[in-house]
Amino acid sequence: MKSSFRLGRILGIAVDIHFSWLLVLALFSTSLAQGFFPEVLPGLPPRIYWITAVLTTIIAFASILAHELAHSLMAIREGISIKKIVLFIFGGVAQMEAEAEQPLAELKITAAGPLTSFCIGVILGLIYYLLLPPGNVISEALFFIAYLNIYVSLFNLIPAFPLDGGRLMRAAIWYFSNNLLRATRIAVGVGSLISFLGIGYGFLMIIIQGNIMGLWLVFLGWMIYQAGQTSYSQLVFQETFGGIKVEEVMTPNPVTVSLDLNLQQLADHFLEHKFGAFPVVYGSTTHGLVSLHQMKDIPRDKWSHTPVSQIMTPLKNCPVASPLDDAASIMMKMAASNEGRVLVMDNGDLVGILSRTDMMRFMQMHLVLGLE
Ligand SMILES: [Zn+2]
Repeated sequence: MKSSFRLGRILGIAVDIHFSWLLVLALFSTSLAQGFFPEVLPGLPPRIYWITAVLTTIIAFASILAHELAHSLMAIREGISIKKIVLFIFGGVAQMEAEAEQPLAELKITAAGPLTSFCIGVILGLIYYLLLPPGNVISEALFFIAYLNIYVSLFNLIPAFPLDGGRLMRAAIWYFSNNLLRATRIAVGVGSLISFLGIGYGFLMIIIQGNIMGLWLVFLGWMIYQAGQTSYSQLVFQETFGGIKVEEVMTPNPVTVSLDLNLQQLADHFLEHKFGAFPVVYGSTTHGLVSLHQMKDIPRDKWSHTPVSQIMTPLKNCPVASPLDDAASIMMKMAASNEGRVLVMDNGDLVGILSRTDMMRFMQMHLVLGLE
């Protein structure tokens, strides 16, 4: 199901709007039309409040878009292309094709956003104080947008990775330690702590004050926590498997079973070796792959006269990799297709098997021995 629609392209960058954003549009406009504007400008017809509220909301979100465009344009200047900008319930996000490779590039790309929001806020604020007479609809709307931009710049500077503040902190630690993984771990750690404080405070707001806005804080905290964890694991994955070939991670010369076995004999192999699957061979030819769960559909009393060939996945349907393939992309494919393992074949010969266990073990060894 499509969860967003394309608004268009701005400066060559695709801008999508997530459907959750429409909810914000409605809530935001309503609270402005029934709360803020009647308070600061009493006595006007409701129609005026509503028109101003909707326009103010749209301009407010154009400011969020400006913030994300600033990140995007700086990223493009640093040689990173932008997939798209998405506006959604919690604001906006510029999806970059890749992460910055240098801490200073990360610093520039990140700082561009809050700096833009801050400048818009200050300029609109100055126009409000110096040029416009207070007490009319346009100046109060302008004041609100100025205030919102300052708020957006300050909120984003909270050091909770992946918020801008957390990214700036990561760039600084990265710059001084020259270790992206450690910098990310510290930034994600601080970010998780702040997220949990936010979630806790949100619950207190709900329980003690009966303030339903606490729920917003709970969701936001949880989302930041999740996003931090996700970017950390992606980074660990990239750092671990970048440039690594399948042959370096796979289990070479795997234990195989013969095509002429029956399931009773196969069961003995599973019990003896405790693997989840075996390549099925006959002589030096590979015929397929048989895994433990494929046995469970066959009743036990039929095992002794059912051949392995009847339940195995034939070679033509098996996921296969070459020893020189890029390990990271093969594992991405495995994760996407929910395969537990791939056969590693070199010129028609079985040379190894690559499983999730191999991947986990490699990652663990690399983390313990290689990086720290
Ligand atoms: Zn930002």
